[in-house]
Amino acid sequence: MEYYPKMSDELEKLEEQLGIQLPSPLEPFTPNWPGADKRQILVKRDDLIHPLISGNKWRKLKHALATLPKSVITFGGGYSNHLHALGFVCHRLNIPMRAIVRGHYPNLTPTLQDLNQWGTDIEFVDKIEYKKRAQPDYLESLSERSPEAAVIPEGGSQDQALLGVAEILQELPETPDYILAPVASGGTLAGLISAGSDASILGIGVLKGEEYLNSLVEQLLPKATREQQCHWKILADYHHGGYAKAPADLKAFCDEFNQAHGFDIEPVYSGKLFWALKDLLAKEFFPEGTTIVMLHTGGLQGARDSQ
Ligand SMILES: *Cc1c(COP(=O)(O)O)cnc(C)c1O
Repeated sequence: MEYYPKMSDELEKLEEQLGIQLPSPLEPFTPNWPGADKRQILVKRDDLIHPLISGNKWRKLKHALATLPKSVITFGGGYSNHLHALGFVCHRLNIPMRAIVRGHYPNLTPTLQDLNQWGTDIEFVDKIEYKKRAQPDYLESLSERSPEAAVIPEGGSQDQALLGVAEILQELPETPDYILAPVASGGTLAGLISAGSDASILGIGVLKGEEYLNSLVEQLLPKATREQQCHWKILADYHHGGYAKAPADLKAFCDEFNQAHGFDIEPVYSGKLFWALKDLLAKEFFPEGTTIVMLHTGGLQGARDSQ
C-alpha cells in the first residue's frame, strides 16, 4: 500500500468517521456464459464501500468534501444514488443540504423518505426548471440566494470527482486490459480515463444518446488527457430503452444473476453493465487471455421499490 499517494489527514479522518471501507475488494467472476472462459474477469466491488453511501458516489464526492462546506445544494431524481449518498454524508456531518429534485412525488420514494429523515430540505421542480441545472446564470442565482453553499452538480460529476475515481486504478494490483463501467453523468468514466492507465476504458451508456454521453465525458476530461488519446469508448447500445427503463428481459436477467452469483445487481446501472459483458463475451469482443475489470458502482438503494 505504500505506493498510494498520500491522502490528506482530514480526508482520512472523514472516511474513518463515516465508516468508508477503502480500498474495495477485487473479486474473480466466473460465470458459465459463452466466451467467459479463457478470459480473466474481475469485479471491483465499489458497492461494498459503505452500506448507504453508494460506491462511485463516494469516490466522486470525497475530494469535494475534503474542505467541508457550510451548506450544500445539489440535484437529482427521486431515486438518485447521488442525493442519497450526499444526503447521508451531510446528515452525519451536520451540514444543511438542499436537494433540488426533478418532478413531484406526492408519495415519497424510499430514497426521498431517507432524505426526509436525514433532514434534507427537498425542493421539487418541474422538468423545465430542472433542465436549467447546469446553466451558469441559474447556478449564479442559486449562489446569490445562498452564498455560503457549495453547489454540487447532478451525480456529483465535477472536476474534483475525477481524482477520487482515478484512485480505483491505483487500487488494482495490475493494469487490466479492459475496465467496464456504466455511464450516466460521465464523472466516473472521465475519472477512469484521467488516470492515464494503459487499460482500455469502456463505458456502458445507461441512457440514450451516444453523442450526448461522449460530450459529457469530454467536457469533464482535463485538457492534457483529452490530447493524450487515451483508449476509451462508450458503447451506446445497452440502454434498454433509456434511463431507468427496465424491460422484462433486463429484469429477468438481474433476477437470475442475483440467484446465481454472490452479489446483487439492479436494472438501472449494474444490470446494464453485466448484460453488456455477457453480450460482448458471446461476440468474442475480448481477445483470449485478456483481463477485464467490471466496476460495480453500487446503487442498490435506488432499486428498492422497483423490485
Ligand atoms: C450515478 C451512478 C452511475 C453513473 O455514474 P456517472 O459518473 O454519473 O456516469 C453508475 N452506477 C451507479 C450505481 C450510480 O449511482
